[in-house]
Amino acid sequence: MRTLRLGPVVGVAAIALVAVAVPVLPLSNPTAMDIMHRLAPPSAAHWLGQDGYGRDVLSRLLWGARSSLGVAVAAAGLACVIGTGLGLIGGYLGRGAEFLTMRSMDIVLCFPPLVLALLVITLLGPGTATLIPLLALVYLPGFVRVAYAGVLSVRNQNYVEAMRVLGAGRARIMLRTILPNIGGPILVQFSLAIAAAILLESGLSFLGLGVVPPAPSWGGMIAAARATMAQAPLLLLWPCLALSGTVLLFNALCDAVRDAVDPQRVPRRRGAARVLDALAPGLVAAGGPVLDLCGLTIEIDTPAGTVCPVRDVSLQVHSGEILAVVGESGSGKSLSGLALMGLLPPAARVAAGAAWIEGQEVLRLDEAALRRIRGRRVAMIFQDPHHSLDPVHRIGAQVAEAIRAHRPVSARAARSQAVELLRQVGISDPERRAAAFPHELSGGMLQRVMIAIGIANGPRLLIADEVTTALDVTIQAQVIALLADLRRARGMGLLLITHNLALVSEVADRIAVMYAGEIVEQGSAAALLARPLHPYTQALLRSAPGEDGSLPEAIQGTVPSPQARPAGCAFAPRCTYRRPDCETAPPPLVDAGGEHLTRCIRWYEVAASVRSAETVA
Ligand code: SF4
Repeated sequence: MRTLRLGPVVGVAAIALVAVAVPVLPLSNPTAMDIMHRLAPPSAAHWLGQDGYGRDVLSRLLWGARSSLGVAVAAAGLACVIGTGLGLIGGYLGRGAEFLTMRSMDIVLCFPPLVLALLVITLLGPGTATLIPLLALVYLPGFVRVAYAGVLSVRNQNYVEAMRVLGAGRARIMLRTILPNIGGPILVQFSLAIAAAILLESGLSFLGLGVVPPAPSWGGMIAAARATMAQAPLLLLWPCLALSGTVLLFNALCDAVRDAVDPQRVPRRRGAARVLDALAPGLVAAGGPVLDLCGLTIEIDTPAGTVCPVRDVSLQVHSGEILAVVGESGSGKSLSGLALMGLLPPAARVAAGAAWIEGQEVLRLDEAALRRIRGRRVAMIFQDPHHSLDPVHRIGAQVAEAIRAHRPVSARAARSQAVELLRQVGISDPERRAAAFPHELSGGMLQRVMIAIGIANGPRLLIADEVTTALDVTIQAQVIALLADLRRARGMGLLLITHNLALVSEVADRIAVMYAGEIVEQGSAAALLARPLHPYTQALLRSAPGEDGSLPEAIQGTVPSPQARPAGCAFAPRCTYRRPDCETAPPPLVDAGGEHLTRCIRWYEVAASVRSAETVA
């Protein structure tokens, strides 16, 4: 948190202190009249003079601050608490809650504030007891809309998704993750609401519908001074100055607080490079086989009809094993990982298949059951640690939060375990790093933090989705090596999703190659890398720089979209081995021996070409 600017703080604190201390200040009775000295100018006994009834203007001004501020702050606070809560619920839960919340606010907004105020006061009568709930109702929609918009902007951020992956409940996510991230706009709205409430209260008091005379209020003082403006113009000046000065100070205070509590503003000023320098992945989960996925098929309804981005995918991951799932973007590998976590986007659904994690079927669990296994049995590391970590919480607190999401440990114990986890993932000086905010760490460090969060509750299966994206080559190798070491040390299964076959070739025990939503080749890493039996695997291998310094060869063409999937082999348009019979029917996944599977009807020709190349070499 940055240092709070002192000017607005001191100004508002002074006004608040005066308003609170008014009863004990040596002031004249604000309602005591002295008709003999009406409209008397400032004097030693009455520093700001006397009004049309001979009452002390300074006393009425300070007592007026107490009533005006009290009503405005109470009303804005009430609206802030209720409105923010409704906005969080409507924005995060969606559907029915969203409809009820937003439509009810639309109804309130149908009434202009002054008309609504006049209507309520006419029915209930003037006075503070009416003003506070009335003003709260007037400013409620503003808070609901600001909170709702804030939730929509952050609810799909990776750090919110990460909390879901860790099994945190909805209330916890809303209050601990989303609320701190939408605090800035809500504070600004709070300042506007206080300022507007002071003005509206003064306006109503000016009309005689607010604070009931002879009790002092700024609006009432302005109304009274208006009648004697020609004889005593200063009587109009004092309440106007108090009113405008207070409104401006509240605005300045809330701007200062917003700047102070938004840690993302720091790196923007100190250098965008620190913010942009890294993006990566990370996280974790559950434990042989720890994963048995059979026939996963995912469908998505689109305006053009139902498409099938993942078809009949079957995989197994054993304890202590690394299975690399490799393919270009659009191959369906990440969608398969999200399905295992119960995190498919709303438009997608599991149409067929089953998945067992440590013997428990997970594809059809309800949200509550999924929360119980996420983080403990299975965890997932996403691509971008900058957006997977909550920017307003310190690193250690976020790791501790992951621990406490599943284990009843004290805050102190969780913090201690968080530091130890940071040490285990290779972060130097973990005590100091634990006190840092995400923007203060490099991309590589953040990636290690994400891994620490992922393994915090000892999952038996860890799904790492493109964990090295956007990292430089050296860091990529370090992260892959760290994951391999943790897998070995903890005996967990590791599902490594990547487009970079070369990167995982050193650590993977087995490799599954996906293309256009299907597994096109699967086998031990040694067999698949030495003797690829599918033209797509060959193309992936050729697309990486060779150890002999040979240049990579780009794969011609693109992965077909699910809507434009060819009738026969999906790889046919890009395949150099293609024959007419390849395009008549989808090829089956066949075992070429030694549990080496391939979805190519000409696999023996592909294998022969490898042998020929080796012979020539
Ligand atoms: S089935 Fe035919 S088109 Fe498909 S990968 Fe094999 S050779 Fe190529």
